[in-house]
Amino acid sequence: MAFGDLPLDAPHKPNKGMEGGACNRQSCQAEPALWWNHGSHSWYCADCARDIGEDIVNRRDWEYNFQPRLGHPMFETREQMDARRPVQTPERPEMLTDYIKPGALGPKWSPRKPKSSSLERLLRKAKVRAS
Ligand SMILES: [Zn+2]
Repeated sequence: MAFGDLPLDAPHKPNKGMEGGACNRQSCQAEPALWWNHGSHSWYCADCARDIGEDIVNRRDWEYNFQPRLGHPMFETREQMDARRPVQTPERPEMLTDYIKPGALGPKWSPRKPKSSSLERLLRKAKVRAS
């Protein structure tokens, strides 16, 4: 099954566009859909991923407008995406801190930010009242 095997207005399968489900192309909907389209945010079968990804207009658009910023092709498998993602493991505990760069959470965020003096006063009062 591939593009054009079904009519353009074919009914949607319930798993259309889902990972491992039916191809997101309405006139295809072949299974399994194992290629994620970073443009349409849906899953496609290998044939359609190639057709769409290799289409000269689509490919130029992606390579010019998206690839330089995102650093990956328009279509990827789950394995390809996982391989790009830094993974923290017991053997590589530094990976998480590498991934979240200092300042990435905003300049004001700090894990050791002291409480304000007015908050300290309120907490002290509350403690006195509670005892
Ligand atoms: Zn397809």
